[in-house]
Amino acid sequence: MNTSATTTDETRIPAFAAERGRRNVSRIVWMPLLLLALLLAGCSANGIAQGMSEDGRLRITATTGMVADAAREIGGEHVEVTTLMGPGVDPHLFKASQGDIRKLDRAAIIFYGGLHLEGNMTRILEKMAAQKPVVAVTEQMPRDRLIGTGEGESGEYDPHVWFDVQLWTSAAKTVQETLMREDPANAERYREQGERYLNELEELHRYVQNRMDEIPQEGRVLVTAHDAFGYFGRAYGVEVVGLQGISTAAEFGARDVSTLRDYLVERGIRAVFVESSLPARSMQAIVAGAAQRGHEVAIGGELFSDAMGEPGTDEGTYIGMVKHNADTIAEALR
Ligand SMILES: [Zn+2]
Repeated sequence: MNTSATTTDETRIPAFAAERGRRNVSRIVWMPLLLLALLLAGCSANGIAQGMSEDGRLRITATTGMVADAAREIGGEHVEVTTLMGPGVDPHLFKASQGDIRKLDRAAIIFYGGLHLEGNMTRILEKMAAQKPVVAVTEQMPRDRLIGTGEGESGEYDPHVWFDVQLWTSAAKTVQETLMREDPANAERYREQGERYLNELEELHRYVQNRMDEIPQEGRVLVTAHDAFGYFGRAYGVEVVGLQGISTAAEFGARDVSTLRDYLVERGIRAVFVESSLPARSMQAIVAGAAQRGHEVAIGGELFSDAMGEPGTDEGTYIGMVKHNADTIAEALR
């Protein structure tokens, strides 16, 4: 294909062969067009060319907003990032639609959370992995830093790693290394932007620490609808109680509600929190139950757990989301 395209080019403009100086100029003019033709012709054969946006950026598809945010921060102007799960979407229950599969198909690289966070996407991600890099951002996290879900030797871990900001730096590094490897022409830029982002995450970690330190030790209890905050609790010294299990796919029953209600009454806990990606009714049931037992519990606010806020808002970024949570928890419990 290369040879024939070049031959066509030469034969169509024979006048340039006669005059060396003019021919050199013509090369400068024709080379980009020739490259474009080769690029278009090579689309189906070349993975990267297929995964490029119209303006020449690397197409990246990410499952959750948190993963997409890391790709956007580190990839900057060289990447076009598409997120499958928008605000309020629960990743544990998410199923890829035909439109989502197209977004995965178009990508040069796919990033996902892993550790069974996207439990219903395992097969489609495996299928995509035969065609292109499909990278779990948690793949390099030291296993001894992960929280086991206590189901014997099944090797399962709590996937909500993004709430331990220091641990999440490992995800950012994995994104950075993948971009540098898959797009070496822009590696230096990914190195720079990755370094900047990692510094911002270090700063964020200290911010959350400082906000949690405002809460008296005995009041550091975070009650939410599902167990999304285990890493948060461990990293920042907060006891975490969830109504549901690690995945929202497990239903909670009346007994869970009464157990949690009694716990709130006994501990004298004043506030519980709702989550943006889950219906608020379970926590409302707990508040009503506690009131019946003469204990007043407030809804302390809405936390972002498995999905970020609206794009274009502070909470629509990973850093903004974590800050929002830390601020909401500190204001309600201190
Ligand atoms: Zn979750």
